[in-house]
Amino acid sequence: MRTLLAVVMAAFVFIPPEAEKFDVYAVRFATIANFPVSSLISGADRSRRLDIAMTVWVLKGVNGRVALVDAGFHRDQYFTAFAVKDFVLPSEAIAPLGIKPEEVTDIFLSHMHWDHAGGIDLFPAARVWVQQDEFEYYTGEAWQSKNTHGGIDADDVLEMVKRNTMGRVTLVRGEDETSISGIGFHVGGKHTWQSQFVSVQTRAGSTVVLASDNVYLYENLDTHKPIAQTLNADSNLRTQDRMRSLASALKLVVPGHDPAVFDRFPHISDRIVKIE
Ligand SMILES: [Zn+2]
Repeated sequence: MRTLLAVVMAAFVFIPPEAEKFDVYAVRFATIANFPVSSLISGADRSRRLDIAMTVWVLKGVNGRVALVDAGFHRDQYFTAFAVKDFVLPSEAIAPLGIKPEEVTDIFLSHMHWDHAGGIDLFPAARVWVQQDEFEYYTGEAWQSKNTHGGIDADDVLEMVKRNTMGRVTLVRGEDETSISGIGFHVGGKHTWQSQFVSVQTRAGSTVVLASDNVYLYENLDTHKPIAQTLNADSNLRTQDRMRSLASALKLVVPGHDPAVFDRFPHISDRIVKIE
């Protein structure tokens, strides 16, 4: 009887589900040549220039979730406004990972700027996760003044509103409530109204922080300088410190536009490195 009881009880012991784990990749879909470093790092010498990497990040889960952090861009006007080189559509740049655009389940949007939100329409099935304050501000009040929507494309706003009417937007409220196993959403360093960054549990057992533009370059981290484009420099520095504390190692804080990312990690293909 006692044996039977033990067997019955064992059957009901709660085994907590393991947090989902992801393989994390940086995918370079373009370069913008000759970009002023003073627009990336507060106080940098105005003569410095850099060919910056334009990147989307891919999170491949073990349970079928295929998420992007940010979606890149493709609209025509940016090819004349900036010196864009080596461009492939973000939806095609992920092909070497065996991912078709319609298989992308989620986009974790760090912020609404054109070079990150401009490719959402390339991924028709994806649910977009964005900070509620970011969504509300850039679909509303930001357009009441000429000076409060720099870098935001009206067509991207329309795509976001449309996707919300399709039931495919999740509004993230700060750091809490909204959760996906193995993923953390974190309030960013005021790169935009309410930018966010993402932490990821990897299959290798580490925590990777995908900063996107809340940190532009490794130099921001190494010299503890705020990004040049932030609504609050102190908040940006505090956020950089937070990223360091969340990541398993400093090298696992991945900045948004640094071409060195593609030298520091192992290559899967010419445009893709695995973050580990
Ligand atoms: Zn950017």
